[in-house]
Amino acid sequence: MATLRFKAMEECLSRKPLLVTAPSDIISDFYGENVFNEEAMREFLSKEAFDKVMEAVKKGTRIDRKIAEQVASSMKAWAAKKGATHYTHWFQPLTGTTAEKHDAFFQPIEGGRSIEKFGGDQLVQQEPDASSFPSGGIRSTFEARGYTAWDPTSPAFIIAKTLCIPTIFISYTGETLDYKTPLLRAVHALDNAAIPVAQYFDKNVSKVAATLGWEQEYFLIDSALADARPDLMLTGRTLFGHSSSKGQQLEDHYFGSIPERATAYMRDFETEALKLGIPVRTRHNEVAPNQYECAPVFEEVNLAVDHNQLLMDLMERIAKRHNFRVLLHEKPFAQINGSGKHNNWSMATDTGVNLLGPGKTPKTNLRFLTFFINTIKAVHDYNDLVRASIASAGNDHRLGANEAPPAIISVFIGTQLFNVLSEFEKKVKKGDMTPDEKTDLKLNIGRIPEILLDNTDRNRTSPFAFTGNKFEFRAVGSSANCASAMIVLNTIVAKQLKEFNKEVDSQIFKGMDKDEAIFKTLKGYIASSKNILFEGNNYSDEWVKEAKKRGLPNVKTTPHALDAFVTKKSKELFSEMDVLSEKELEARYDILMHNYKLRVQIESRVMGDLVLSSIIPTAIKYQNTLIENVKGLKEILNGEFKKLSGTQVKMITEISERVSVIKKNVEEMIEERKKANSQTDTRKQAVAYCEKVVPYFETIRYNVDKLELIVDDDAWPLPKYREMLFTR
Ligand code: ADP
Ligand code: MG
Repeated sequence: MATLRFKAMEECLSRKPLLVTAPSDIISDFYGENVFNEEAMREFLSKEAFDKVMEAVKKGTRIDRKIAEQVASSMKAWAAKKGATHYTHWFQPLTGTTAEKHDAFFQPIEGGRSIEKFGGDQLVQQEPDASSFPSGGIRSTFEARGYTAWDPTSPAFIIAKTLCIPTIFISYTGETLDYKTPLLRAVHALDNAAIPVAQYFDKNVSKVAATLGWEQEYFLIDSALADARPDLMLTGRTLFGHSSSKGQQLEDHYFGSIPERATAYMRDFETEALKLGIPVRTRHNEVAPNQYECAPVFEEVNLAVDHNQLLMDLMERIAKRHNFRVLLHEKPFAQINGSGKHNNWSMATDTGVNLLGPGKTPKTNLRFLTFFINTIKAVHDYNDLVRASIASAGNDHRLGANEAPPAIISVFIGTQLFNVLSEFEKKVKKGDMTPDEKTDLKLNIGRIPEILLDNTDRNRTSPFAFTGNKFEFRAVGSSANCASAMIVLNTIVAKQLKEFNKEVDSQIFKGMDKDEAIFKTLKGYIASSKNILFEGNNYSDEWVKEAKKRGLPNVKTTPHALDAFVTKKSKELFSEMDVLSEKELEARYDILMHNYKLRVQIESRVMGDLVLSSIIPTAIKYQNTLIENVKGLKEILNGEFKKLSGTQVKMITEISERVSVIKKNVEEMIEERKKANSQTDTRKQAVAYCEKVVPYFETIRYNVDKLELIVDDDAWPLPKYREMLFTR
């Protein structure tokens, strides 16, 4: 094993950056060239078909069979011209990755000949034999198969000679089995709820879209070194490894110059991303060594989610060319920062207005305040769902680990906006307001833009921070499908806006003027939700105490966080907003619990295997060398032996002690695994893994890492942190 480690180091040191040239220096020359976008559709579709597709995209109308037939044949003509030979429905099952099943365009016919075939039927609907995708019991109880159906709002694209058609994935009984379907429903719910509210300020608004700009963090490790770490290969993170003497304490990696090999890789995947119409724009180093970030320009949320999924896939594929392994796991290395994926979110109207951006007049600023306060209220009222939306085994290592926003969900808005809300609350009177009072209030609201110009008031420790014209949901994990967070956020804000609309309308109905009705309703919201606002350091112990006093939940682990999905309140919310039925929620809950259990189970097994077959034998071999040494000393030293062999004897003892602690803990952990597996329901299994199995990881790791420090470096089997993080 150790030889593998040294071979990997040699390989790694001999690497040269790959020469990467973009098709052109001007991005617009190739941007979106592999996407069946508006431009391609205009060229390949009849006017009638083009209009129908655009209508479906903009208004969500249905596309009939005849048009689908036309779209399919044009899509195929376009794809064939680009050299595509296969097609696939591309979807996002709840496993967290993307799925595809490739079929060739051709179809065999009589006489051993074949014809090229790809019609409306193949475009619109398919039945992948998807019986092994997680279905949370839906399919076993109800219907054994699911099908995929075309989502015309996200354009088809070509990767590696395959035409990929974004689709939703549902069971035959109609329950959703993916991320995309509920996301589309949540987006629709938000649109419906936000329009009447936006119309209080501008009658011309007829569509409100959620926008998302994600920031993807990741690590790059040489593939030879990664291959020599079974834990990285099988679980995505290192289960052992003593921290390097130099880690991130100097913070010299952050915004430093990007190493050449990494730059070449970035240029390569960015080029491929741009060809796919993913508007990647920013790249920089992150805090930890070998950690980076990539961010695009924001887009409509459904497209942004597809683009993020696609990009993660591209990053993994293209890393191979550069002999890198890209690590998207939330916590690949202990003691240094993990990776997140900030979700910058806002709402935009078809009149070109960002609803979380302040305006120029008191009226447009009141609009800003309306959407701003309603979002805060939504996060306040559904705090537990927001937490559940980012729960995963990987993210458990980040939340609350003094580097990432904690498991306590709070909202940061900056002291100045905080003061604006307090002023507002004070100035809105309970009873009738005089015209002067109203003018005074409007003047106050009019000052918001100046306040927001000062964009320096930033808080990097908050899980949900307002950043001038959008909210940044910072607690999302780096490997997550953003859809999970976006389904919850858009649904709760939709629900909140719906309530707001109802309240304001009922006041107007009673004869109150519109502005005053809005003022009064917002005042009530500020009062009832301000305990979620926190401007201080979210990483501090004081905040944990303070949050407890305020009654804010602090749910540290996934199985407990997920429970929020199946409360009565959650079920009512998701069915009222037509996003997920009770059955769908239960199924998802089951899938996520099961997935958590499986991940921890795999980690625990890998840990046991590595310890028993690799770490302990290595330690014992080295101990034997020490024993030989002591025996030799005894022969030559006679009288002085006791005095001079003390260190070696101590080392021999330490190895024995650590080996026995490790062995004992691994055995106990295996027993706990057996007990956990024998639990009857999924939740109980997940909780048992979380509470009974995971706690062993720390003790086992601690002792293995201590052994790493004393065992001969030549013999140590696993590439060390300093090698993985600092070799270029
Ligand atoms: P930073 O947070 O580093 O200051 P920016 O404010 O420019 O950088 O934006 C960070 C991310 O937020 C980018 O992905 C950007 O596209 C996205 N973003 C900006 N405006 C919006 C918006 N209205 N809706 C959603 N995302 C947005
Ligand atoms: Mg940011």
